[in-house]
Amino acid sequence: MQTATDLKKQLSEINHKSYPAYKSLRGGYQFPGYVLFIDHVQGDPFAAPSRVSVHIDGKTAGFPKTLYDTRPKRIALQDYLLRLFSRSIESYSFRAKGSGKSGLIQVSRCGQEILERTACTLNPKDGALILGLQIGFPASGRTIQSQELAKILFDFLPVCVEKTLYYRSLNPRACSQVAQLTEDQQAIRRQLQERRLAAFVANGSILPRESGVSDKPMRSAVPFSSPASLEVTMDLPNRGTIRGMGIPQGITLIVGGGFHGKSTLLHALEMGVYDHIAGDGRELVITDSTAVKLRSEDSRSISNTDISLFINDLPNKGNTKAFSTADASGSTSQAANVVEAIEAGTRLFLIDEDTSATNFMIRDELMQRVVSDSEEPITPFISRVRELYHHLNISSILVAGSCGSYFHVADTVIQMKEYTPYDITERAKKEASAFPAVSSSGHPFLSPSFHRHPIPDGTLKDRDRPKLKAMGKESIQVQKSVTDLRCVEQLADSEQLHALAVLLFEAAANYMDGRRTVVQIVDLLEKQMDTKGLSSFGEASFSYDLARPRRQEIFACLNRCRNLRF
Ligand code: ADP
Ligand code: MG
Repeated sequence: MQTATDLKKQLSEINHKSYPAYKSLRGGYQFPGYVLFIDHVQGDPFAAPSRVSVHIDGKTAGFPKTLYDTRPKRIALQDYLLRLFSRSIESYSFRAKGSGKSGLIQVSRCGQEILERTACTLNPKDGALILGLQIGFPASGRTIQSQELAKILFDFLPVCVEKTLYYRSLNPRACSQVAQLTEDQQAIRRQLQERRLAAFVANGSILPRESGVSDKPMRSAVPFSSPASLEVTMDLPNRGTIRGMGIPQGITLIVGGGFHGKSTLLHALEMGVYDHIAGDGRELVITDSTAVKLRSEDSRSISNTDISLFINDLPNKGNTKAFSTADASGSTSQAANVVEAIEAGTRLFLIDEDTSATNFMIRDELMQRVVSDSEEPITPFISRVRELYHHLNISSILVAGSCGSYFHVADTVIQMKEYTPYDITERAKKEASAFPAVSSSGHPFLSPSFHRHPIPDGTLKDRDRPKLKAMGKESIQVQKSVTDLRCVEQLADSEQLHALAVLLFEAAANYMDGRRTVVQIVDLLEKQMDTKGLSSFGEASFSYDLARPRRQEIFACLNRCRNLRF
């Protein structure tokens, strides 16, 4: 193993040489307390920055096992350390000078959700820590300025490592609070299952966000408080007993006037599939972790999906048991989203009328009288929502501000009034009984069949010089194949999209053989992530900017890829 002194010597030897001489630095160097790896060196100062990692052995890092003895606690600790490190190194970016990206220091920026990221990994066996980052190796034009790189590697980086990655430098109370919050969050998740709840919102939670572009909690928001009839207590290992609204499994309707906080509540439930950091306001808002937000999604592609639960007898005689289109309508896209979410193993649908196709959600009585059922290909969701719960045990939480018909099928009706929920189930049921219920569809409930074996086309199979990227939270690109993910609303971070690009590429290369089903393929991807980690995929090696997506979003991504045929 070379040492820090060797690195210093090599840096001075390549100073003022042409940029590719930086490549000679690849390898590991023993610094006091850690090994610095130069994993990948960029081709020129304008290219994507170089990748560097800090490896600290378990004994030196010194984190007590109790802080990472379960998977969720380990992920929360990794997330916490990454935040500390990132905050500490931020101010050093571009302090070293040069052209293009020279001097850039980039580490994953964590949002409000706690995600498993490749930027910081702690070995569950021995507590060894790896922190990865991107550095723009400095040059002026294409002439190496290695004294500037020396500033980063010998002055800036060691200070930040010392301050944030050793247990002895940290506040032990703050570290154990991270673990304690995670234990409490997991306890709520377990109790949801045991008590047949779809979601829990603790009293005092702050649901609205600061603004459309900031995910921080809104200041001076009205804190959440549960209606008495829906209030449940949760016994938590650290906080003790807390109270809040328990949304039962089954069908729940959220109603209320415009601007009273319906969508805000639903959005908090959507993101409640993830754990949140302390101070977020939603750290005790916990939703069934398989929940899927369903919406209409005009113009998405659909490949071999059985949407006959909702759509039959199309005028063009299209087969809706194996439906494909390159340009779906609002209702067919939402029908496909439901069926694909079933295949992805969801136990809870979340639907907002604001983003739904009206003809998919409802067919009112007058319309039924004028246009007979036999002329209407669509069986609306309202006719299926009970059956989905009865036959497949999938609950639904729906926001409906304008459509009263759902009162008939709901088990629980919550009214949002000035941001506070009220349980109006009894009153709503009584009023509804005076109105005719929507007649159920003529089509019997047949569980959708899944015979889907994806095969990639030539675009995805192109192996040379893989080009994988994420365009924010909008879309991903794998070679020349672009997949639009704008309507997959539970993606929390662009790093998850980047990981989806890696997974799509790897699945197309190694797992999609035309015989495996999409479920088997996602199982294999998840198994590899569970056992070897996200960075074990070839195209992920030394990528310190990936975050693990949920199973449901992996399905969503594969299903939207236009270069797969199922
Ligand atoms: P709806 O879906 O019922 O029309 P929204 O959920 O979109 O209403 O909320 C309307 C506005 O009220 C949003 O700007 C939101 O940020 C704000 N808001 C929501 N909940 C609260 C709250 N608890 N306290 C303060 N403002 C809130
Ligand atoms: Mg709304």
